[in-house]
Amino acid sequence: MTSTESQIAENYERVRQQVTAACRRAGRAESEVTLVAVTKYAEMEWVQALLQLGAKDFGESRPQQLAERVPLLPNGIRWHLIGPLQRNKVRATLPLVSLIHSVESVRLLDRIDRIAAELERRPRVLLEVNVSGEETKHGFSPRALEDAWERMLAFEYVRIEGLMTMAPFSDDPEEARPVFAELRELRDRLTSRSSGTALRELSMGMSNDFTVAIEEGATLVRIGSSLFEGVG
Ligand SMILES: *Cc1c(COP(=O)(O)O)cnc(C)c1O
Repeated sequence: MTSTESQIAENYERVRQQVTAACRRAGRAESEVTLVAVTKYAEMEWVQALLQLGAKDFGESRPQQLAERVPLLPNGIRWHLIGPLQRNKVRATLPLVSLIHSVESVRLLDRIDRIAAELERRPRVLLEVNVSGEETKHGFSPRALEDAWERMLAFEYVRIEGLMTMAPFSDDPEEARPVFAELRELRDRLTSRSSGTALRELSMGMSNDFTVAIEEGATLVRIGSSLFEGVG
């Protein structure tokens, strides 16, 4: 192993132990939580190292970088798009990804549904919610999402599987807890209004707050910098 590989192995093991411990505290099965390795700032060599360690879910924030990387890596990886998707990138992106976390408007959802119909695909998506209301953040306001919900249920091809949010950055992960709890409660309200469509996924938690997110019900945690600490 190179020093880069052993550093990544150490980081990956530490993060996985933290995931395990958080699941235990919350009385949840570890199989309920998927660790998405966010590789937007990672070099290909680092991505390869994670693959060797058994990582299967990788998140990229730019459709362009995602498209460049998919052909370079083995089939069987589940790719997650976690950043903004421009409408003109939908066609190229749909065939590459397992899950889009970052659908932030009805307009984009409509576009995805139309392209999915043409391509005869059933893409899985999450709706991004700006729970904290920060101006710099993307996503639906909780109110707007509740207002548009019936319209969203009418889309035929796209499968809305849950919600995603980012908490405001803070050194204290406890500050993120109310944001995560609110996303879960919003998910529960929307689920109760949608016969048959269970919103199973909650994508919440990043390097600095993922253990709190797991305690609040995250099913997908998106972790970048913790995996690459001390690397490069
Ligand atoms: C970069 C990014 C992450 C990972 O953040 P880290 O703090 O590096 O773990 C998670 N989610 C989104 C949407 C991101 O853009």
